[in-house]
Amino acid sequence: MAEISMENLLRIFTVPEAPGSTLNRLDNDISANLAGFLQEHIVAEEADLVKIEQDFNDTRIPEDPIFVSEHAEFLLDKVVAQSVHTSSPSFVGHMTSALPYFMIPLSKIMIALNQNLVKTETSKAFTPLERQVLGMLHRLTYGQSSEFYDTWLHHGRKRLGAFCSGGTVANITALWTARNRAFGPDGNFPGINHSGIFGAMRHYGCEGAAVLVSERGHYSLSKAADVLGIGRENLVSVETDSHNRICLDALERKIEELKQQRIRPFALVGIAGTTETGNIDPLDKLADIAEAHDLHFHVDAAWGGPTLFSDRYRPLLKGIERADSVTIDAHKQLYVPMGVGLVLFRDPSMLESIEHHAQYIIRQGSKDLGSTTLEGSRPGMAMLVHAGLKIISRRGYAMLIEKGIELARRFADRIASLEDFELVSEPELNIFTYRWVPAEVQARLRDADEGQRQRINEVLSRITQAIQKEQRERGKAFVSRTRLKPECYGQQAITVFRVVLANPLTTDEVLREVLEEQREIAAGMKDSANMQELMGLVALPA
Ligand SMILES: *Cc1c(COP(=O)(O)O)cnc(C)c1O
Repeated sequence: MAEISMENLLRIFTVPEAPGSTLNRLDNDISANLAGFLQEHIVAEEADLVKIEQDFNDTRIPEDPIFVSEHAEFLLDKVVAQSVHTSSPSFVGHMTSALPYFMIPLSKIMIALNQNLVKTETSKAFTPLERQVLGMLHRLTYGQSSEFYDTWLHHGRKRLGAFCSGGTVANITALWTARNRAFGPDGNFPGINHSGIFGAMRHYGCEGAAVLVSERGHYSLSKAADVLGIGRENLVSVETDSHNRICLDALERKIEELKQQRIRPFALVGIAGTTETGNIDPLDKLADIAEAHDLHFHVDAAWGGPTLFSDRYRPLLKGIERADSVTIDAHKQLYVPMGVGLVLFRDPSMLESIEHHAQYIIRQGSKDLGSTTLEGSRPGMAMLVHAGLKIISRRGYAMLIEKGIELARRFADRIASLEDFELVSEPELNIFTYRWVPAEVQARLRDADEGQRQRINEVLSRITQAIQKEQRERGKAFVSRTRLKPECYGQQAITVFRVVLANPLTTDEVLREVLEEQREIAAGMKDSANMQELMGLVALPA
């Protein structure tokens, strides 16, 4: 046990760890060889979460200090060892992947500086830097003139967007702005931001307010509907076509239905890279519809935004430049560490609708970014986004994006060509879904009646789930799973594997091994109840 004394406490604020200390050794190992460090210290095979919980059971705050080295040992043993190897080339199930090595020492510098972007008094150069990054991504998205950026980039009252902790807060910020503008001040009515939702509905003569998005919309949008007081029911989900893109007819119908119920739609969300299937809504057509019905048009490009770097694939997002606001997550395809996203606004005045001031801190007319962000104190993550944009560059990001999309295309083609796998959703970007289905079952699914088909799909869903879980537990590779209702099975919900191919170190060979392991796991389940049931169903006469 270490000794408690003011002298020792002061030491932790001033004196770094000795060169040979455990913490220092860890730090050096990470700097010298990050991949090696992770490979060495993360235990591949999954331990039961309930068992891990036992290491974190004590709710008493220690009365007495321990040595830093002792704590470092604990971390290595109980936390690092039991964390997830997100940067592994065979971890292809989620949107969190490898980081460029320079992000790690830069993160340390950012933390050492400990700037707070809520106000310039605690951030100085970080504020113009953050604005520059917003300007760069605004220009990438909206492509305005140099004069536009010269005028607005560092303007006192206007902002091109807002940094935040991720896509969720970015989406909330966009819809918050949309809500406040749709139900803004009008005659004696001071605006929804002052009087709240009841007053706004009374003044504007409606029974509710709604946001429309396809059924592939991210769940952060329903959090936004809840937080903004319009209610989750009024996040209206619109059906999608066989490519997981919003159906425009259905959208128009929903808008009319809402209006008949005197519920006012005020925002339409298009998705550029759906979380589950990586598809892109027809943004240009959505922009037309938003314009016709006077809706705020928001594009959730949390995942797909960086596709704009690629001249080859940028056309897939055509229409995004007509959006009122756009969400982009930096901790996804900008390869910045977890905890940073941003929302851009085409019109630099839009964020004024959510502006807040306080005398001691974010004063009227100051350049403090805290007046137009949902969050208060905020770290200098923009420094890392800025570093990525400069060190990797537009062309570098384009190559990474293109590599992911092309890898996904090859992997999907391979799956489609195999007898014992079924491609469920085609990749448009670098995400798609598939499942394991033996050839004889595939044949049977084609000629089965609806009842049989449903029973077969139910068993297959249980098997898909079991394979995914077993593969994850083995710890060599990871794909995620989700539930989709593909048109080819009459909207029946089925469980599928989902792959996200954003790690530049993932190769065709790695993916071949992922499939091989899934096949092997399936073979190992030959005698399971599910597999017996599946074979029984296939053997039945049609
Ligand atoms: C990831 C994602 C979000 C949410 O972003 P977080 O950073 O997890 O808060 C929102 N929308 C889409 C399309 C996403 O892929």
